[in-house]
Amino acid sequence: MVIFAFMMEITEKDLLEKLKSSFGYDSFRLEQQKIIENILNKKDTLVIMPTGGGKSICFQLPALFFKGITLVISPLIALMKDQVDSLKANGISATYYNSSQSAEQQQQVFDAIVNKEVKLVYVAPESLSLLQNILNQTYISCVAIDEAHCISAWGHDFRPSYKQLSFLKKSLPDVPIVALTATADKATQEDILEQLAIPNATKYVSSFNRENISLEVRPANDRVQQIIKFINKKPNESGIVYCLSRKATEQLASKLKQNNINAKAYHAGLNFEERAKTQEDFIKDDVAIICATVAFGMGIDKSNVRWVIHYNMPKNIEGYYQEIGRSGRDGLPAKALLFHSYADVIQLRQFIANTGNKEVQEAKLDRMKQFAEATVCRRKILLSYFGELIEENCGNCDVCKNPPTFFDGTVIAQKALSAIYRLQQKEAMGTVIDVLRGAKNAAVLDKNYQVLKTYGIGNDISWKDWQHYIIQLINQGYCQIAFHLNNTLQLTDFSNKILFDGEKIALTIPIEIKKEEKLVKATGKKVTNKAVKDTLFERLRKLRYRIAQEEDIAAYLVFSDATLRELENERPQTDNEFLAISGVGQRKLEVYGGEFMEEIRTFIKEKKRGKKDTTLETYNLYKEGFTIDEIAEKRNLKAQTIFSHLSKLYLEGKDVSLDEFIDASTVKLIANAKKVLKNEPTLKPYFEFLGEKVPYEQIRIGLTILQKKR
Ligand code: ADP
Ligand code: ZN
Repeated sequence: MVIFAFMMEITEKDLLEKLKSSFGYDSFRLEQQKIIENILNKKDTLVIMPTGGGKSICFQLPALFFKGITLVISPLIALMKDQVDSLKANGISATYYNSSQSAEQQQQVFDAIVNKEVKLVYVAPESLSLLQNILNQTYISCVAIDEAHCISAWGHDFRPSYKQLSFLKKSLPDVPIVALTATADKATQEDILEQLAIPNATKYVSSFNRENISLEVRPANDRVQQIIKFINKKPNESGIVYCLSRKATEQLASKLKQNNINAKAYHAGLNFEERAKTQEDFIKDDVAIICATVAFGMGIDKSNVRWVIHYNMPKNIEGYYQEIGRSGRDGLPAKALLFHSYADVIQLRQFIANTGNKEVQEAKLDRMKQFAEATVCRRKILLSYFGELIEENCGNCDVCKNPPTFFDGTVIAQKALSAIYRLQQKEAMGTVIDVLRGAKNAAVLDKNYQVLKTYGIGNDISWKDWQHYIIQLINQGYCQIAFHLNNTLQLTDFSNKILFDGEKIALTIPIEIKKEEKLVKATGKKVTNKAVKDTLFERLRKLRYRIAQEEDIAAYLVFSDATLRELENERPQTDNEFLAISGVGQRKLEVYGGEFMEEIRTFIKEKKRGKKDTTLETYNLYKEGFTIDEIAEKRNLKAQTIFSHLSKLYLEGKDVSLDEFIDASTVKLIANAKKVLKNEPTLKPYFEFLGEKVPYEQIRIGLTILQKKR
């Protein structure tokens, strides 16, 4: 039994019951329970948890036990609104107070606080002074400071208005102060405690491992095409593409739109209304994809972001980790894809050159680059950056999934470096590879490069593989790209070691193009938007969207993707079953339970009937004159399935002429085989008997016709 220092006794069971009834969850994550107990014991607390780790509940749950109000200091208005909506959806009384409200609204908030009608009040640091009259222990039981790293100039997101928060401890000496952040940096942590005047706060540092986010890095060739392919494989999923420049966000968004992808751009250059609208469209699932600068995302708690792409390399690992952390907050699988380009690295170096603490920033950029070029488990690198060591490889990054194989690449390196040398370091990678491969294009012939000694010495290696090898030579410092000289490849001090000193170099074998992509090439079909299947999940998603529209809140606040998945799998039919689903609390059961269970029931009924309906649907299309292939394509089924529908209809006596799909002579052959094989029920003996010349499909049709004749 847990006994708390104030006038109430609360057990672990009480905490778990509240967690379920108010938030719908069955168990605590990470350090949540310990943190909550510490806060309820009225102790100052510092919470370090990764983005998406579950910080909010750490102060929201205690707030339900405290007599007075929990004041939440939060830097962004959008964030406040979202959290308040989320609390209200769970039936918890909460409100916010900020400069976007009218004097009247502000007075209402004020009254609610004085009358103790709300449990949580969100406020921006700028507006705190307006609440002076109630900032005392009569009203306030707890203060939570979200995004607490904003208080520290050491952090990456310093906000001057956070600076003045040290007065809180003075005004409210007996009230627990809770600081929460995802910044793991030690200097920042110490600074937070000092600035808030809570030197003795208990510190809880959770693991930074977000196992559900898979990590991948790819070279930045044809980024736009790669992104379009990536998105088309995931219709209806929400995602963010981070770009370095405002222009890039707009160009990318417009290219995606041209490809029928529901995307919008977001950057600090847009006016306030446009930004607010875009953010809202995203949160409400009206826009699936945002192409944004890093200005976007802080203050977005949207739990169903399924992927994050970095179009450009981020400045540092902190930023990268925070940005990818915005995906998969609901704990379901999510994807982080980073494009690695040398031009980006150079550009970032130039930015840094003009900033204050250049050395620190450069070192951070180097760590980022090492991450992108890693040949060992990427998660290990990330977590070690945050001071966390894991022993096992993660199994959920591209390196783990396709471990590189090394071989002696000395000869390859010699060929590449001598080509660069013969070209007098005046050509970019493309032409160097063309010369190595003995290409006969204008770039080569115009300059008479075919007479060079290195011309064609690498024609046994594909263009892509050469690129793969040269990038590794660059990574290892054996040559470099001169971005200021038209991206020409240059030799370095290291080059001589390979060319003249007999040094050996290990290179990795290029990874094969993924099977899927090969398949697309083989069939010659363009990848188009994948048809969205009529699954229960899709139905529930649509219902969720409709309800969210009606209530004017974000879709994921109705239920998270994780809850929808569980509803899909468990298919609850009673209140008790519904309440057992993770993410369903008392209020959500009452308000949404009926409609969602109705949808599930309808779906089950339809699927039962569906077996009959599906052949009928094929029949209707057949009668309209569509070919088998057309019907198959329309219905997203295999031609074979359509044939089996038609056979069934034929046997039922429907007007289907199977004869048009088979020659009379073939039917005769099959009839003969049938006699010899004594009505054998399986197809293989027929296939063999007929010398493997008649395809299975034809045998099946023949047998159906013969069956009908009998
Ligand atoms: P953070 O503020 O740390 O970035 P949030 O507080 O927004 O993270 O939580 C991320 C997601 O995890 C939210 O959708 C939240 O409802 C969910 N969550 C938090 N705690 C739990 C829990 N104990 N069990 C299941 N889901 C949880
Ligand atoms: Zn790994």
